[in-house]
Amino acid sequence: MKIFSAITPTEAHIVCELLKSQYIDCEVRGEGIFGLQGEIPFGESSEPYIWLFDQRDSEKASEIIKEFQSEQRKQDWQCDECGERNEGQFGACWQCGNVAP
Ligand SMILES: [Zn+2]
Repeated sequence: MKIFSAITPTEAHIVCELLKSQYIDCEVRGEGIFGLQGEIPFGESSEPYIWLFDQRDSEKASEIIKEFQSEQRKQDWQCDECGERNEGQFGACWQCGNVAP
């Protein structure tokens, strides 16, 4: 079953590895769709997603994904200087160059 739809292939792989580390059997699907255009309809199905092999793992997998997503949100930070919101991966404010707290 499809358990998670990612925005980027990178995100899909991160989540997939995370699940595998918890002994959940899954794989990334929906990558490299561009070579198959015409066969696959546009929309959500053209995005990379995580395929779960065992439906019994779905509850645990959902928990891990939820945790992953809230962890990502937590990493966002607000600049003391100008109030701009920055993503966690940036060490300095993209707006004014102030360093992350
Ligand atoms: Zn700033």
